[in-house]
Amino acid sequence: MRTVREYFTSGRVRKLQFAFVLLMLFPFLFCPTVIATRLPGKIGRINDYANVLRVGDHSELEDKLTELANLEMGLTILISLNDPYNNPDRYGFEVSRKWGLSNDPNEGLIVFVKEDDCWKASFSLSGQLTGSFSGEVSYGEFQNEIRSKVESGEVRDAVLESVNTLYALQFRSGSTEANNGESSEKGYLLYFVVGGALLLVIVVFLVIREARLHCPKCGSRMKVTGAGPGRREKYCPRCGYYERE
Ligand SMILES: [Zn+2]
Repeated sequence: MRTVREYFTSGRVRKLQFAFVLLMLFPFLFCPTVIATRLPGKIGRINDYANVLRVGDHSELEDKLTELANLEMGLTILISLNDPYNNPDRYGFEVSRKWGLSNDPNEGLIVFVKEDDCWKASFSLSGQLTGSFSGEVSYGEFQNEIRSKVESGEVRDAVLESVNTLYALQFRSGSTEANNGESSEKGYLLYFVVGGALLLVIVVFLVIREARLHCPKCGSRMKVTGAGPGRREKYCPRCGYYERE
């Protein structure tokens, strides 16, 4: 009778053991392929795999993202419930590689993904987009605000706010127009003040001139005669007053 030790070292069992080890290793050997096929496909610039957005949101966001893309500030949004890497940044990196975004300097990706019942956000924006943050809002502050929204479960708000913020950074037409209006209003005001003052000076000048043309004795209008260089003669046709300047 064979001992247990002999049994485990017998050729047949060794072959079985080898096959078993191979079988165990199989998922790990093919892991990258398996995960890659589990990554979502690209639908458009908005990829809402979690059904977070409402009906009207899609077209509004797509329009804004198209306008941004026309300025070579491409942005794609992924909203997902499944991250095979359990790491939002890694997930975003792999997705943007699969979607061909990472090798285009004008393209960026924001990923909103649910990890263990907690929503996370990962940002990889193009240099054009990150460079458009001004002193008012920094890129860091923007990310923090979106992250805090996402982590408190307001995913739809976070998606809308991120697109709207980036859009507003490029298309501040409303506020620019308001500023222009304000400054042109100031210009008009200045124009009126200067014009009014000038008009007042002219009126005062005319009144004085008119007053000087009136006879100091009877008040009727005098006639100017013999106007020569540096001298003017006035006489009153009514009382005969005569004045020489
Ligand atoms: Zn007179």
